[in-house]
Amino acid sequence: MPDATRTSAVTAVASWRDDNGKHPGYSHQPDPVEKTFGSDVFGERAMQQRLPKDVFKRLARTIRQGEPLDPQVADVVAAAMKDWAAENGATHYTHWFQPLTGLTAEKHDAFIVPDGHGGVISEFTGAALVQGEPDASSFPSGGIRTTFEARGYTAWDCTSPVFLVRGANSVTLCIPTVFVSWTGEALDKKTPLLRSMEAVSTQAMRILRFFGTDAGVSRVTSTLGAEQEYFLIDRNFYYARPDLMTCDRTLFGARPPKGQQLEDHYFGSIPSRVLSFMADAERELYRLGVPIKTRHNEVAPGQFELAPFFETANIACDHQMLVMETLKRVAARYGLQCILHEKPFRGINGSGKHCNWSISTDTGVNLLDPRDETHTNMQFLVFLCAVLRAVDLHADLLRASVASAANDHRLGANEAPPAIISIFLGDMLLDIITQLESGAPRSTLKGGNLELGARTLPQIPRHSGDRNRTSPFAFTGNKFEFRAVGSSQAVAWPVTVVNTIVAESLDYVATELEKAAGAKTDAKLQGAVAGVLQKIVKQHKRVVFNGDGYDAAWHKEAEKRGLPNLRNTADALPVLRDKKNIDLFKKYNVLSKPEVESRAHIFVEKYVKQVLIEAETMVSMARTTILPAAIRQQTELAEAVSATEAADVQATDLRAQLEEHAGLVVNLRSATARLDGAIGTHMADPFKHAVQIRDRVVPAMADVRAAADELEARVADDLWPLPGYREMLAIK
Ligand code: ADP
Ligand code: MG
Repeated sequence: MPDATRTSAVTAVASWRDDNGKHPGYSHQPDPVEKTFGSDVFGERAMQQRLPKDVFKRLARTIRQGEPLDPQVADVVAAAMKDWAAENGATHYTHWFQPLTGLTAEKHDAFIVPDGHGGVISEFTGAALVQGEPDASSFPSGGIRTTFEARGYTAWDCTSPVFLVRGANSVTLCIPTVFVSWTGEALDKKTPLLRSMEAVSTQAMRILRFFGTDAGVSRVTSTLGAEQEYFLIDRNFYYARPDLMTCDRTLFGARPPKGQQLEDHYFGSIPSRVLSFMADAERELYRLGVPIKTRHNEVAPGQFELAPFFETANIACDHQMLVMETLKRVAARYGLQCILHEKPFRGINGSGKHCNWSISTDTGVNLLDPRDETHTNMQFLVFLCAVLRAVDLHADLLRASVASAANDHRLGANEAPPAIISIFLGDMLLDIITQLESGAPRSTLKGGNLELGARTLPQIPRHSGDRNRTSPFAFTGNKFEFRAVGSSQAVAWPVTVVNTIVAESLDYVATELEKAAGAKTDAKLQGAVAGVLQKIVKQHKRVVFNGDGYDAAWHKEAEKRGLPNLRNTADALPVLRDKKNIDLFKKYNVLSKPEVESRAHIFVEKYVKQVLIEAETMVSMARTTILPAAIRQQTELAEAVSATEAADVQATDLRAQLEEHAGLVVNLRSATARLDGAIGTHMADPFKHAVQIRDRVVPAMADVRAAADELEARVADDLWPLPGYREMLAIK
């Protein structure tokens, strides 16, 4: 479509909307959602209304330009915040942060202070707003601190708005904060995220300056929209399954006759109880200012998805944590359990969290939109090639950023992207990349400026080619979609990694461009840019793959191309300690060496602990739940054999059944004993322990499961002690 048409279409839509508002006899009435959206957030609008003008201006400068906050300003802001919160029923406040557990943490303080006359007054100071000091000794630090040096500080992140959390009879003011140690090391997921956003901004600005498109732009931010997949099952089933209660996934379960074969669930009509739940959860999220946009049935029975409108990465990450918590909390009201685990049911699709990521100027230009400003196509290609290079160079890190015991069940199965990291570009962009590789769009370069040069590139339709569902990192029109992220994961860490590797790549490209351009005139600049991009494409195009990521042939091909295939967590996490990666985080001030090492340590320990918890749950369930049922069945069979024979009736077949059953019971007992043995071997080095867990415990768990599932398929339904897949997935 020629650009003029597009522009006029856009203008038409815009003016239609204007007309709609202005038409005589019609005036836009805010609907209930518009009225309540963000009502539990002390955001910019509320601040502007309640703060003295100069205080608001100074705070806005801190929020937008990162200027230090004056303590006096903080006092005024805190007082206004407290008044607003108290008017809304809040009695307490908390610094809300994201420790390395992957969850959020809070410790509530009442607003009250003694008034010296036996009463209290309600107070909230700037100091209390800006800084807190929770006893940090029980949060994972990965060896950064010992317990006796437990000091940790929380510090207000004013770029993410404070909000209210409502309980049945309580309201708490939540203040998003970072969490750092006494020595200043990051103990949380937000600090490195903010630092990585800074790095992207610095480097992206260099590219904009190079192209002269930086007028009026003071920052570049990364944007994020995270699609959340989840399962819902009836709570009664959840409470009847120790594995679900302890591990958020089923450790046992025979395949039901009807799973997702008929593909009748995806985008199907939403069951009424589920829809009520969704509406309620969304209402709560709207109050918190989380812009939930879409909801639908996912592929697996009992699986659903919700997606927000994208936001600045930092806010989106905070909101994503609220989404997970809200889904869990609200589901209970409807007698449902929300399961966020990556693979709650074997043989049925698991859940992911596609992280849609882009970078945008603070003037609202999406730098990964090929058509936003057609004349800056060349600039778009620079950003595109920078991402391409980043993903190729740091595929190991991307893979490691999504490694977990839970995601191991999903990545590489035929439902989620493979563990091999590649980029999907679509046919049109692939073609352009190929053109770039063969030496630039030199043929029709007219005139001497960038705008003209860029015009020689083909028009890039927004949806260039088909969708591809199998790629771990796909270009989808005007953003990249990192699809390997797990459904239960806190997204701050994978987004930090994407930001950091792209910042590094932008740094490289900017330096190359500046070098190549030198004192060249505009006319020659074209060639310089093309030359830099050509080199990048040549070196890194191996990471581009537009085909079917599930295909075995791709795995072979990827190996030939030298792409890493880190199949599981035990393979993936050690790369965090590689010099290349430690240097990278350090260079862009995202994480120091101890900070990276502590994270590697925490993540690998988490893997070990999680699998061990599952393994122990499995042993206990096998011994105390499943075996007793199987033995009751055996007794019934044995009694049937003797009763039949006593009645002088042939019992050969019954006896065979009994023998077969007894054999299955022996299998389960011995598999359980083997698993129990495998659990027992402890190792001091968590990295070695992880390998041992993967090689011994995980296969032993598979054996126990196989033996138990075989029994489930044969034991009398009234004797089987656990709800099965059939009922759990069907009842909505
Ligand atoms: P699907 O990938 O299933 O087609 P949708 O188009 O519904 O999903 O959702 C895509 C997600 O990408 C949404 O959360 C949307 O807000 C987000 N998104 C769109 N543009 C950007 C952008 N520039 N940066 C980050 N996320 C974006
Ligand atoms: Mg998607």
